[in-house]
Amino acid sequence: MTNPPARTSTLDLIGHTPLVLLEGPSKAAGCEIWGKCEFANPGASVKDRAALWIVRDAEARGELKPGGTVVEGTAGNTGIGIALVANALGYKTVIVMPDNQSKEKMDTLRALGAELVTVPPTKFADPNHFVHTSRRIAEETPNALWANQFDNIANRRAHIEGTAPEIWEQLEGRVHGFTCAVGTGGTLAGVGLGLKEKDENIRIALTDPHGAALYNYYENGELSSEGSSVAEGIGQGRITANLEGAPIDTQFRISDEEGLKWVAHLLRKEGLCLGLSSGINVAGAIALGRQLVADGVENPRVATILCDTGFRYLSTLYNAAWLRQKGLPVFDWLGSASEA
Ligand code: PMP
Repeated sequence: MTNPPARTSTLDLIGHTPLVLLEGPSKAAGCEIWGKCEFANPGASVKDRAALWIVRDAEARGELKPGGTVVEGTAGNTGIGIALVANALGYKTVIVMPDNQSKEKMDTLRALGAELVTVPPTKFADPNHFVHTSRRIAEETPNALWANQFDNIANRRAHIEGTAPEIWEQLEGRVHGFTCAVGTGGTLAGVGLGLKEKDENIRIALTDPHGAALYNYYENGELSSEGSSVAEGIGQGRITANLEGAPIDTQFRISDEEGLKWVAHLLRKEGLCLGLSSGINVAGAIALGRQLVADGVENPRVATILCDTGFRYLSTLYNAAWLRQKGLPVFDWLGSASEA
C-alpha cells in the first residue's frame, strides 16, 4: 500500500478518500460492492467536498470577500464542512438546522465556532423552513454568502471533478454501477455525470429512502411519497438544480430496517461505524449489483458512498431507547443496557 502524498494545505485533506471492498454486501449481491469512505474527510462526511467547492466557487465569482460570512441551511453535515472550510479561510459561519437532527451534529457545529440557529422541522413550502430561513439571514447579513447547497451546482461539480474520477481511477476503469441516496442530489448527479463521461454504459441508480418523492418521480414522473424514514441528510421531495439532468437509469426504494441491517453488519462484522444513509446506500448497491448480475454483466463492480461517521449518531441510531421510541429494531449488542 502506498501512503497518500504529503499535503501543504489542510484543505487538500478534503477528498481523495479510500475505496474499500465490502465483504458481506459483496457476498449478498454476488458481485463486488465497493464503499467510498467519505467519513474519512476532515469533517467526517461527504459534504466537506460540496462545502469546499461552494466556497471556492463564490470566491472565484467575487461573491465572498475577506472577512465575509457563509450562511447555510443544512441537516448538519454541510454545516460542519462549511465551518471547517470557513475557519481555514478566515470566514464566519452561520448554520440553520431543523431541531430534529442529532444532538451530536449541533454540539459539533457549536464546538467548531459556527453560530447555530435551529428551527422546527417543516415542509419546504413553509417560509420558516430551514432553507428559507438561511436565505433570509444571508440577505440580512452584510458581506454574506448563502451557500444554497440544494440549488448551487458548485455542489455537484465537487463530485464531477472529484469523487467520480477518484472512483474511476481507484477501480482502474472497471466499474459497472454506482448508486446512492439523495439529500441535495449533488453526490448522485455529480458522480453519475462524472462516471458517464468516462463510460456511458455505467448504470447509475437512485437509492431512495421511504418518505422521499424521487423513487416515484423516476418510476412514473410523479413527485409523491409513502411512509417515512429516520435517516438524516437524505430524502428529497423536489427536483433540485443539482438533480436536473442527472443520468439516472434505474431506482430502488430501501426501508430503514434494511439500511439498519447493513449498518449493524458493517459495524459488527467489518469494523466500520456509519450513519444510516450509508446503510441505505449499501442496501441499494446490493440491489443494483443483483440487477447487473441478472442482466448478464460478468463480475460487475458497483460503488456506493459511505456518507458519514456513526459517531455522529450515538444518541440516536446507537441508542436502544431511541430506536425503540422510533419503532425500529434494537441492535442486539445494545441489549438491555438502555432498557430503563
Ligand atoms: N448522507 C448524509 C448523512 C448527508 O448528510 C447527506 C447530505 N445531506 C447525504 C447523505 C446526501 O448527499 P447529497 O446532499 O450530495 O445528496
